[in-house]
Amino acid sequence: MAVIGGGLAGSLAALALAHRGFAVILLAPAPRDGEPPELANATALSYGALAGPASWQAWLDLEAVCGPLGLRPATLLRHGDPWLDRLPAALQAWPSRLLGFGRVDPTALLAALPPALAAAGVRRQSAVVRGLEPHGPGWRLALDTATGPATLPTNQVVLAAGAGSRALWPGLPDRLRVSWAGVLTLPNVPPGPWPAHARRGRVVQPFRWQRPLLEARAASLEQEEWIVDAGLAPRDDGLVVGQVTLVRPGIEPGPPPDPAAMEERLRAGLRQLDPALAALVGSYRQVPVAFCVGGEPLVGPVPGAPGLWAFTGFSAAFSRVPLAARQLAAAMAAAPPGC
Ligand SMILES: Cc1cc2nc3c(=O)[nH]c(=O)nc-3n(C[C@H](O)[C@H](O)[C@H](O)COP(=O)(O)OP(=O)(O)OC[C@H]3O[C@@H](n4cnc5c(N)ncnc54)[C@H](O)[C@@H]3O)c2cc1C
Repeated sequence: MAVIGGGLAGSLAALALAHRGFAVILLAPAPRDGEPPELANATALSYGALAGPASWQAWLDLEAVCGPLGLRPATLLRHGDPWLDRLPAALQAWPSRLLGFGRVDPTALLAALPPALAAAGVRRQSAVVRGLEPHGPGWRLALDTATGPATLPTNQVVLAAGAGSRALWPGLPDRLRVSWAGVLTLPNVPPGPWPAHARRGRVVQPFRWQRPLLEARAASLEQEEWIVDAGLAPRDDGLVVGQVTLVRPGIEPGPPPDPAAMEERLRAGLRQLDPALAALVGSYRQVPVAFCVGGEPLVGPVPGAPGLWAFTGFSAAFSRVPLAARQLAAAMAAAPPGC
């Protein structure tokens, strides 16, 4: 079977399917500069934060089989609540340990995945999937590879291409949408009180987080809207500072928003937390991120397309994908042939 998409969803789905005994080929483009925005990888830019003892345990289970995947202890520090803001940071961050808060470092994860996938028996092909169509009892994929166009016949397909999923199967439910998320990335942790939290493994987020509220309103938007959730997280040896989120009406991601305007919005939002954060020298980067209105991701067979499965549109992806990947693999193993 073929899994399309080499981010968090596609990679963990491929691992779970291989662990169930399926022969899996994972199709994702080789990372290169100047790649079209719909092929960008949201996983690479993420804070990687996760919460909940079951999620933490699912990552521990994965690491027990695959080796280190970048799971790190972390605490959550929230700002913007008059009562919480009076407490010392250590006291504020402490309860998040009880809630199974942690993070997966995306750089470490993306470096660890290729050997973990190979060890599980997953074949990886660098390819952009240009189209898929029913073919006999299965599917035929049209690929762009380094050596030119190719086709791949396969019995089943898992669509885990994040923001690129709808372009491959336009009939996916309307609740699947795309936001544009932008952050500053810094290779080192600069001085200053907020970055110092990242040095201690803390993820900083606003007490009233606006992104889920904007995503929840996506279906009723009449014009594009954007918000800033001022926060930061450790990343590799450096820092990721964000995030500005833009959501458009409709189901298409549209062209990338103007990066200069988005960076200015982000810096204006950061200025309200601390002018020093707004003045940080870092690279602005933005990616499209798939999400589902209502919060329920697409996990399961695609109606009317036997052998096609969807695995995308996650909110709290780092918390949910490891468990959902196991559920997907179990459902595919239990499905009668031709489903
Ligand atoms: C700044 C930021 C902070 C975030 N913080 C958190 C957080 O703290 N916790 C959390 O849980 N989530 C967070 N998220 C969200 C989370 O990162 C995403 O939901 C998750 O990484 C999505 O994974 P994915 O595999 O579905 O998509 P992606 O990572 O986007 O992967 C999709 C893959 O599909 C490939 N693809 C697309 N089209 C094709 C095609 N035609 N052919 C072949 N391959 C294709 C792409 O190249 C890409 O590799 C954050 C996101 C951002 C941007």
